[in-house]
Amino acid sequence: HAKRRQLVVGNWKMNGNQQSNAELLAKVVAGWQGEHNAEVVVCPPNPYLLPTFEKISGSPIFLGAQNLSQYDSGAYTGEVSAKMLGELHCKFVIIGHNERRRLQGETDAQVAQKFIAAQRENLIPILCVGESSAQRENGQHLEVIGAQLQAVFDQVGLDVFKNAVVAYEPVWAVGTGKTATPQQAEEVHRFIRTRLGDLAEEVRILYGGSVKASNAEQLFAIPDIDGALLGGASLDAEEFLKICKAA
Ligand code: PEP
Repeated sequence: HAKRRQLVVGNWKMNGNQQSNAELLAKVVAGWQGEHNAEVVVCPPNPYLLPTFEKISGSPIFLGAQNLSQYDSGAYTGEVSAKMLGELHCKFVIIGHNERRRLQGETDAQVAQKFIAAQRENLIPILCVGESSAQRENGQHLEVIGAQLQAVFDQVGLDVFKNAVVAYEPVWAVGTGKTATPQQAEEVHRFIRTRLGDLAEEVRILYGGSVKASNAEQLFAIPDIDGALLGGASLDAEEFLKICKAA
């Protein structure tokens, strides 16, 4: 992991309420004081960004959003811009999560535009890539991930990845309880790293897909895995903190 700081990102998805968030954050903040190896980020739903920021401020935990619009402003009902997220103290934003690609039909081109929009406002994009179970069964996983990356590289170039994070999230592992084996993750992380050219050793590449306290250590032991993107495990303070500490 030479010069790369480990990163653990909690994607709450569309979960929680004011009461449960307050309880979760109180525990997480209490358990994550002082100096640690890993950098930790929580990504609540947009309505809870500011209350979350208020609860984590003064702690070493950062705020992230789960999505953003590729546009700066205008007639885009229901959308939220990078500037708005910046004003609410977000430092990171997840881009191209497979739930958005699949359920909201986000295309590679849109993902690339969102990446640009995020960086324009100094937000750090966490670019998610990953294959479906059918694509893995057909042995197409590297091809698919290569194409997802290339679509963004074509639009933004490689240099800007200096201020970005990549997350490998096999679709079949997200929210399913089925984690990639260390060998499967290692193959893809190595592949992504080589695709990053000159920045290969600088860019953090996270693994996401049913990471739990019980499998985190094994995954984090792989040199090309620089942390995790967590869904389910980020909603349980004890589980989340165990993973943050293992990173
Ligand atoms: C995610 O939503 O990015 C994720 C990895 O979810 P889970 O940890 O629940 O598989």
